[in-house]
Amino acid sequence: MNFAFGREEEAFRHEVRAFLADYRDLDGFFRQGRVWPRVKAMFQAMGERGWLSLAWPREHGGSDASAVMEFLLWDEVAYARAARNPLAAGIVARTLIRHGSAEQHARWLPPIRSGHLHFSLAYSEPEAGSDLASLRTRASRQGERYVVNGRKIWQSYAQDMDCLWLLCRTGSSESRGRGLSLLIVDIDAPGVQLTPHPTLDGEQLNEVLLEDVEVPVENRVGPEDGAWALMSEALADERHIQFPPGRVRRDLEEMNAWVREQGLADDPHVVRRMADLAVRVLEVEMHGLRVLDAMQKGLPAVVEAAANKVAHSVVCQEIARAVVDLAGPEALVEGVRPSLLWRQSLWETIGGGTSEVMRGVVARKGLGLGGRA
Ligand SMILES: Cc1cc2nc3c(=O)[nH]c(=O)nc-3n(C[C@H](O)[C@H](O)[C@H](O)COP(=O)(O)OP(=O)(O)OC[C@H]3O[C@@H](n4cnc5c(N)ncnc54)[C@H](O)[C@@H]3O)c2cc1C
Repeated sequence: MNFAFGREEEAFRHEVRAFLADYRDLDGFFRQGRVWPRVKAMFQAMGERGWLSLAWPREHGGSDASAVMEFLLWDEVAYARAARNPLAAGIVARTLIRHGSAEQHARWLPPIRSGHLHFSLAYSEPEAGSDLASLRTRASRQGERYVVNGRKIWQSYAQDMDCLWLLCRTGSSESRGRGLSLLIVDIDAPGVQLTPHPTLDGEQLNEVLLEDVEVPVENRVGPEDGAWALMSEALADERHIQFPPGRVRRDLEEMNAWVREQGLADDPHVVRRMADLAVRVLEVEMHGLRVLDAMQKGLPAVVEAAANKVAHSVVCQEIARAVVDLAGPEALVEGVRPSLLWRQSLWETIGGGTSEVMRGVVARKGLGLGGRA
């Protein structure tokens, strides 16, 4: 088995690393809400290089680059802690490219590609998270507009974004996944109200109340009631860049350095625990590569991506927790790095699909257990 990347791919990785040298102290991966103007400027600099649209088709301003190039880009950005891959250039743009009209392409893709237009994902609701098909936010068609009413919750970074990528019900209340539509909603539209929800790591999620919000029909992406298939496709396109191993690799390096600074590095108990974590990090790397390999072969990668998500998020918690165990209260002082990693990593097993749901996917679809695959 050859796990090495090609010469052109390695050259690109080095180019990305050189670019990221200017953003090394940004910490936007963890603190995007606090440093958004700088993260946005970085995305715009990436846009100038064509990196936000790397794998888009050429006719839409992309470079038709391979999944490997995209993986390397976002793995390096995660390792540098600079940012998470933006939703706009990913899920939103890919859906627009596949299902948008020519007018929608012309209107939305250029500012997304250049890093000037950003989106927050408005899917979850107080009563609909894992079971998204039960969501209730309703868009009622009135002539050439929809009138939207409902409540969304846990919207990451919405306070800084330009638009909501809104999943809402246009079918009957019993229609489940068959009655959902996707709308682009201006976050400053009358009737959109954001309430911040502080998180344990000092960041913020948001609740979004929508009251009689008017959305032009031309902002609907894809067919009415047909959003479910679009969402699955968009997710499938992105599996190789979600949860990049670079984040976990960097967690371990930082925590090793911190343990050394505390004078704990010679303690055999500490050495054993950190060595065990080093093996776990390699396992995460392998999960990431399995997803990439499946994607390159044109396979759905559903099981690989679910296994990767669990491994990635559980190991980043274990690394932070080990340091808290080993160093005691010193590691939990506010502002100290292990404390931030511990507080932040707590939500990684929930956001983007919970560990229980991911394990269910592996059990049913990968192992053929528990009934319907
Ligand atoms: C940091 C963070 C950022 C987020 N960002 C966004 C965002 O930008 N936009 C957005 O729309 N949402 C976002 N979310 C919401 C996220 O997608 C949901 O929290 C997640 O899908 C879980 O839904 P829930 O919170 O309603 O929990 P529930 O679905 O109610 O789950 C509660 C518990 O039941 C378990 N459970 C549920 N169903 C099953 C099942 N079938 N099998 C086994 N166990 C099950 C879960 O694992 C969990 O332990 C974010 C969440 C977090 C934590």
